[in-house]
Amino acid sequence: MVGSKEKRDKRLQQVSLLRTIPYSDHQRWWTSETVAVVTGANRGIGFEMVKQLAGHGLTVILTSRDENVGVEAAKVLQEGGFNVDFHRLDILDTSSIQDFCQWIKEKYGFIDVLINNAGVNYNVGTHNSVEYSHMVISTNYNGTKNIIKAMIPLMRQASPGARIVNVTSRLGRLKGRHSKLENEAVRAKLMDVDSLTEEAIDETVSEFLKQVEEGTWESGGWPHSFTDYSVSKMAVNAYTRVLAKELSERPEGEKIYANCFCPGWVKTAMTGYAGNISAEDGADTGVWLALLPDQAITGKFFAERREISF
Ligand code: NDP
Repeated sequence: MVGSKEKRDKRLQQVSLLRTIPYSDHQRWWTSETVAVVTGANRGIGFEMVKQLAGHGLTVILTSRDENVGVEAAKVLQEGGFNVDFHRLDILDTSSIQDFCQWIKEKYGFIDVLINNAGVNYNVGTHNSVEYSHMVISTNYNGTKNIIKAMIPLMRQASPGARIVNVTSRLGRLKGRHSKLENEAVRAKLMDVDSLTEEAIDETVSEFLKQVEEGTWESGGWPHSFTDYSVSKMAVNAYTRVLAKELSERPEGEKIYANCFCPGWVKTAMTGYAGNISAEDGADTGVWLALLPDQAITGKFFAERREISF
């Protein structure tokens, strides 16, 4: 245990060190006209990502499903001198997504960066209820896919390439230590990136939800902690790979790069503030990924600014 704590502290020190290295001019591909959107940004890691991206000089759209809370959150940053705009966005609501896209089209015309941060988890500590599985899968997986599909036509076609960053979790790893997937068939299917399809991922989550309804999920070989949440993040990880593969076929000048990252165990409402790092540190890898200077990197999974395995 001491060893792993030392390793973690060392990693965090390295992250802090990297943070102090400024983005030099040739790396700085963005300007104040570069537009980034962050979902679920009224609090927690999303709010921090908005703050850090705006701190780097981008125009950032803070979105929230609750209008009043979102306006207040944006106001805090605007009063601090950050270039932050607000619009309501509920990733579970088709009309809210349409409304948001229409507003982007009219006000900005395009976006450069989409950070899919909105998410839910109804378990804390050692609890593992699947009572809210439908909501967890719908929000974390289907909602994320829906907003990505709606925003892709609005992504700017320019040489640095547009960027999609999905906030996922190590709990969704296929060979994770913490919440192990024991279902070999599912693992093999999601691991085989060459033959993986969106339909195959949809089938996997549908099978999980069917087992929840039938009361058989406990013997299904699914991850054993935060099961519904882990399955949802596993699905987003897999979808990031499928998406990156599809997007890589776009011609030069129209590229969109898609990656995902785990923020770590973060002190936010989601963990009941029981994490071991701050929202500021949790946001770091997502912002770094969104701003990578030469982003031929796509379809990868990161944590603490390093690539990790799916
Ligand atoms: P929070 O609960 O603080 O933030 C979650 C955000 O998502 C809130 O703003 C919430 O809005 C929003 N949200 C939920 N449902 C929707 C929806 N349908 N449409 C739009 N927004 C929605 O948690 P975190 O900041 O910790 O989580 C941010 C992301 O990081 C999540 O994807 C989470 O899974 C991931 N993550 C977090 C970890 C952690 O340790 N905290 C670890 C690994 C991953 P509202 O305020 O209205 O509820």
